[in-house]
Amino acid sequence: MSEIEAAVREIAEEMRVRPDRGAVATYIPELGRVDPGQFAIAVATKDGEVIAAGDCNTPFSIQSVSKVFTLTLALGMMGDVVWQRVGREPSGSPFNSIVQLEFEKGRPRNPFINAGAISVTDLILSKYQPREALGEILRFLQYLADDDAIYIDEAVAASEQRTGYSNRALANFMKAFGTVTGTVDYTLGVYFHHCAIAMTVRQLARAGSFLAHLGRDPVTGFSVVSAERARRINAVMLTCGHYDGSGEFAYRVGLPGKSGVGGGILAIAPGKASIAVWSPGLDASGNSHLGRIALEKLTQRMGWSVFGA
Ligand code: GLN
Repeated sequence: MSEIEAAVREIAEEMRVRPDRGAVATYIPELGRVDPGQFAIAVATKDGEVIAAGDCNTPFSIQSVSKVFTLTLALGMMGDVVWQRVGREPSGSPFNSIVQLEFEKGRPRNPFINAGAISVTDLILSKYQPREALGEILRFLQYLADDDAIYIDEAVAASEQRTGYSNRALANFMKAFGTVTGTVDYTLGVYFHHCAIAMTVRQLARAGSFLAHLGRDPVTGFSVVSAERARRINAVMLTCGHYDGSGEFAYRVGLPGKSGVGGGILAIAPGKASIAVWSPGLDASGNSHLGRIALEKLTQRMGWSVFGA
């Protein structure tokens, strides 16, 4: 058994029995029904192998992890114009915060907080009809993971459509400033649906692989983005990927990472691996509690921190 395989198995076993699990998100009612007892981990290596353990074949709601992929798509479509719409600075605020928007004239701090991701979705919608945009996002993930089975969980999307009042407030506020230009309802519809994409940790680790290998898929050798762009997306993940918990994640895990309120985290060990973890219970910042602990254990054991082994 390889060192990675042993680490993955041992960490999954340890996490499975831990009593501290955090609390599942309930503000999206459908997510509140998920069993917090689940845990999964998958590591996609530079040889293209995916090593996984725990509930690694169970699809979960990727939620804000999708923001990495919408940012990648938007950069591919429009290049640096994206950065006129959103900044690249950590917000130090919760994921759904509205306060900075007023002071910064409707320009969200970064593409990974809700306001920023809604604005990026709106930018994608300037080139596509809503259905096409959603199809592009879903097909991009299916292509990256090499798996057509990846789907949108309509029940989760509908659940957020019904209850997403703060996202509606963010989108309307940005519309007033002109940083959302399209029809607010369309933008939110696409945003809620891309957050509701369901994937397993195996699929997610594979989909993130290009970010660990200078923009290239290590299996096919195809270039997804330039090396420079991959580095820059990783930089934004490191500084902004965990909202007001980004500093703590960098301190403990030492890798670029993006979390979602479904309990998933995608973490990138440049040159080494793409890692996906999932455990639905969240900490106070809305990031997976056991997911973060598992990543901390894995990076320590493998010496994968970007700040040195
Ligand atoms: N769809 C969720 C929301 O907008 C995503 C938030 C998250 O994963 N942090 O509230």
